[in-house]
Amino acid sequence: MTPTRTCTRCLDRPAADGLGWCRGCRHRIDRDLGDLPALAVDLADTMARVSGARTGDHRRSADTPLPYAERAAEALHGMRAYLVAWCRLLYDEVAAPLPADTITAMAVHLMRWLAELDRHPASGEFAGELREVYASAAVAIDLPRDRTRVFVGPCPTTCEDGRPCPGEVWAHFPVGEEVRPECRCRVCESTWPPESWASLGRRLGKPGSGWVTPGEAAALAGRSIKTVYNAAAECRWRRLNTEGGVLYLVEDVTAWRDTPAC
Ligand SMILES: [Zn+2]
Ligand SMILES: [Zn+2]
Repeated sequence: MTPTRTCTRCLDRPAADGLGWCRGCRHRIDRDLGDLPALAVDLADTMARVSGARTGDHRRSADTPLPYAERAAEALHGMRAYLVAWCRLLYDEVAAPLPADTITAMAVHLMRWLAELDRHPASGEFAGELREVYASAAVAIDLPRDRTRVFVGPCPTTCEDGRPCPGEVWAHFPVGEEVRPECRCRVCESTWPPESWASLGRRLGKPGSGWVTPGEAAALAGRSIKTVYNAAAECRWRRLNTEGGVLYLVEDVTAWRDTPAC
């Protein structure tokens, strides 16, 4: 029997035979890689917004912390370098073909070859660097673009190479009224405006855990379905129309349960 190895990412839970990561960490790594394309877009936005807003009037003394634009540029640079380095390593060591030179293509590539990285002696390094890349991107983004975002389901899109997109679709509800909510895949960047959510719901099959049926909402809130319907209309809960009927956002349901006024 082989002795159990400790996960090289959390240094806590056991990893399966021959693998570097525990199941939880592997899932987390997969998700973090899937977030990188969206983070890169946010970083580019931050750079554009901040440098546009601050022309001329911001003189910086030597001890002022790095402005957002610079931090965002550095984070983006670090992210790219990280992706390039590990795509090259896979190419050199297991002859994985090199993907296109974009953040999205490289992140998707690493997600597809994650089993190789999990088995690789440098699995701990790969995971540690990903954490750093993710963290420096997250702190460099100046504003949260979304008030809330909700998991909808696996992406139904087919990539250019004919394979299914490995991403997830999230519903984004932005801060402010001027930006409309939309469903978005963070990997292939497909978007669905609210008017197409019903057909998106059909393509996804079962919606994600963020949305509940009126019956589930009633159970969640401990009220009757009729009360739920009334509250949904009165409090304007966000809704998703699917073939199976209307769905409400768990967050709206629980907010109402905890504070029945709206
Ligand atoms: Zn772990
Ligand atoms: Zn997608």
